[in-house]
Amino acid sequence: MDLGIAGTWALVCAASKGLGYGCAQALVAEGVNVVINARTEGPLQQAAEKLRAVGADWAKASGQKAPQVLAVACDITTPEGRAAVLQVAGGPGSAMDILVNNAGGPPPGDFRDWQREDWLKAVEANMLTPIELIKAVVDGMAARGFGRVVNITSSAVKAPIDILGLSNGARSGLTGFVAGLARSEIAAQGVTINNLLPGKFDTDRLQHTFVGTAQKTGQALEAVRAAQVAQVPARRLGDPAEFGAICAFLCSRHAGYITGQNILPDGGMYPGAL
Ligand code: NAP
Repeated sequence: MDLGIAGTWALVCAASKGLGYGCAQALVAEGVNVVINARTEGPLQQAAEKLRAVGADWAKASGQKAPQVLAVACDITTPEGRAAVLQVAGGPGSAMDILVNNAGGPPPGDFRDWQREDWLKAVEANMLTPIELIKAVVDGMAARGFGRVVNITSSAVKAPIDILGLSNGARSGLTGFVAGLARSEIAAQGVTINNLLPGKFDTDRLQHTFVGTAQKTGQALEAVRAAQVAQVPARRLGDPAEFGAICAFLCSRHAGYITGQNILPDGGMYPGAL
């Protein structure tokens, strides 16, 4: 299926690896020009190189010009970082067709230990940052009659996990905001906004949590991993590439009638019927 988005521009945040990279890869494989970002320059440039190779393959297969891949090393949760990504490529902030919001998640813990600063940091990173970026691009999208926003949140929005209180709270705030905005006048102007709620995906972040559990419990790393996989009806972890494919479909011309939704790729873990 041709997703119909070749030649458009996408900003994919927090995309040097993991789920963000999966999304950028799937978009470049459709001929989409991307601006990617992460804080660490080296891995970011390596990711950009890999994406350029994906773009070259697409160009060869399609006979069209290879998509551009631009990389901006900055912290997307700061005003300076957001300004830097929005200014790149001659100021495409207002000319972005696709925005994929992503950032690192807040740390786990006990809410009794969290201070006001911890809450503000989580809200800044996982609620206000995506809202600020949406604000920067959404009116331009509406004026041009096409726009796609995908927010990477978490399955914990639907099935909160006690130790992830900072994430549950901040991401739920974003989810409520998006539910309203997606159904505002922009819905009739070709702009969709959806959330993608990952379950257990095989990324460095998940691997670090397995290592942490192994160290805390004294279990072997493989045993921790096997126990996690056993919780998933699909009996495997998700692949960031399949997460990216869902993201690319939501960004496609074909997904114009899907908006304000919370889509849950989790291998069947969420137990509810609806
Ligand atoms: P990951 O493999 O650790 O990758 C995170 C990416 O984000 C890296 O490229 C990292 O690069 C970048 N990044 C982190 N903080 C950033 C910041 N402040 N500004 C710019 N870039 C930043 O993590 P992941 O598993 O893909 O997770 C992505 C998001 O999905 C997180 O919010 C996570 O909580 C959420 N999530 C993941 C899962 C899962 O199963 N993997 C499940 C539920 C929710 P730098 O470190 O160089 O900045």
